[in-house]
Amino acid sequence: MGEAAMTQGKTLPVIHKVDTNKCTGCGVCVEQCPQQIMELYAFGSKKKARCKDLDLCVACLYCQKMCPEVAVTVEMPGVKLW
Ligand code: SF4
Ligand code: SF4
Repeated sequence: MGEAAMTQGKTLPVIHKVDTNKCTGCGVCVEQCPQQIMELYAFGSKKKARCKDLDLCVACLYCQKMCPEVAVTVEMPGVKLW
């Protein structure tokens, strides 16, 4: 049974979390992300941030480091980022 090996290109196992209890929707991470994949979305009457395309995240940690509320966590399981 010949099954073709399918490769789906680059898939980094990045875990990106924004703590909605901490995020104030200030937009700093949206401005700082070099991949332009952070966005604000409506969260009730407020705005919160999220990563809209994990496949493009390069785990540079800018969003995590720049967030004044320490609301962002970026992880790559098995990889020590810093
Ligand atoms: S920088 Fe932090 S507080 Fe500001 S929008 Fe991004 S996650 Fe929310
Ligand atoms: S880790 Fe870097 S590329 Fe990924 S969402 Fe944050 S700022 Fe953007």
